[in-house]
Amino acid sequence: MGFNENLREYARVIASLGVNATPDRYVLLRCPIEAAELGRLVAEECYKLGAIDVIMQWNDERSARIRLDNAAKEQFETVPEWRAESQNYYARKGCVAISIVAEDPDIFAGADSEKLMASALAGKKAFEEFYRIMDEGNLRWTVVAYPNEAWAKKVFPNDTPANAVKKLWAAIFKTVRIGRGDTVKKWWRHDRMLKRRARALNREKFVSLRYKNSLGTDFTVGLVEGHIWKGGSEKCVAGKVYFPNMPTEEIFTMPHCEKAEGRVYSSMPLSYQGELIDKFYVEFKDGKVVSHGAEVGLRALDRLLNTDEGSRRLGEVALIPYDSPISNLGILFYNTLFDENASCHLALGECYPDTVKGGEKMSKETLRAKGGNNDSANHVDFMIGTADMEIIGIKADGTEVKVFENGNFVI
Ligand code: ZN
Ligand code: ZN
Repeated sequence: MGFNENLREYARVIASLGVNATPDRYVLLRCPIEAAELGRLVAEECYKLGAIDVIMQWNDERSARIRLDNAAKEQFETVPEWRAESQNYYARKGCVAISIVAEDPDIFAGADSEKLMASALAGKKAFEEFYRIMDEGNLRWTVVAYPNEAWAKKVFPNDTPANAVKKLWAAIFKTVRIGRGDTVKKWWRHDRMLKRRARALNREKFVSLRYKNSLGTDFTVGLVEGHIWKGGSEKCVAGKVYFPNMPTEEIFTMPHCEKAEGRVYSSMPLSYQGELIDKFYVEFKDGKVVSHGAEVGLRALDRLLNTDEGSRRLGEVALIPYDSPISNLGILFYNTLFDENASCHLALGECYPDTVKGGEKMSKETLRAKGGNNDSANHVDFMIGTADMEIIGIKADGTEVKVFENGNFVI
């Protein structure tokens, strides 16, 4: 297939598998201006599937940077009502949400961190209704990527901009299974594999996982009682299936936010709010980060951890074998959508309520009492997997089961 066919196919799978656009739903389509070509194709595909209407929400990270450098801090402390309504309204009416991301990993490097933090907190408050409807399983959503020049040059620094973009496209198409053969069939086969993996772990009912590797990671995390390992497609309350991330290779569950002990070292750089953090560690006591360090981007790591109380606690534990499709590409993407799918990771901040039995219906207080970290403006995945990662699962009676050896599943 040529590039145009691949792009059309990409649009088709985003609209169908990604959010499963249906005649009873609006589509909120967040699209960077560079990705306009893809955005328009996705809109067309959503209409073909019968969507009531497609609402284009254009964004541009370079003008966001200009605003950040020039507007006063107060401007970032609140989100105007009309803007909050631009999402909350459609969530109330019934929508699905597509986010196309095209991010320069360094776009906000050196920017005013107080404004960035204020903006994250204001966003959490303003879009609370939107996120609540999403958490209750009433809003199908997906995140997909589009290569822009700055991002591609970061990934392939020795190439010309045009070649770098071409290479990044090839990598993206590969990871979302576009190319030879039937894309949709390939996705369902992949989904069955992830579901099998999740089932195997669900049978074990581990109370905690212990991680060790030669970077110095020596860390144990408790899992919430009744936690559910998930992976691949999700089902909304209306019973429709969708894929929240494309690509996706992970299976993940809910850690107990008061049960984590020891130190974890990062295995890949992390781009947080447009700033890179690299070669860092976080150390936990009673589930809370009590010390941290970074060779690169310490300021951004400080900002992440200081956003709110929940940002110092874990909301997700995810397992991905070292020997897996994205990892085997050997490409560092500097983008969490890809890098998190190449490596075991943890997330600081919000948990996913549906990773514990009955979680979508629990009150905020009940979920927190169970150990779910559910009051944070952040949910930031950071990668910890290595070729020598060892993970032991521990059961309630103390039995230990090897889950990972030399970076791969042995269960
Ligand atoms: Zn994850
Ligand atoms: Zn995550």
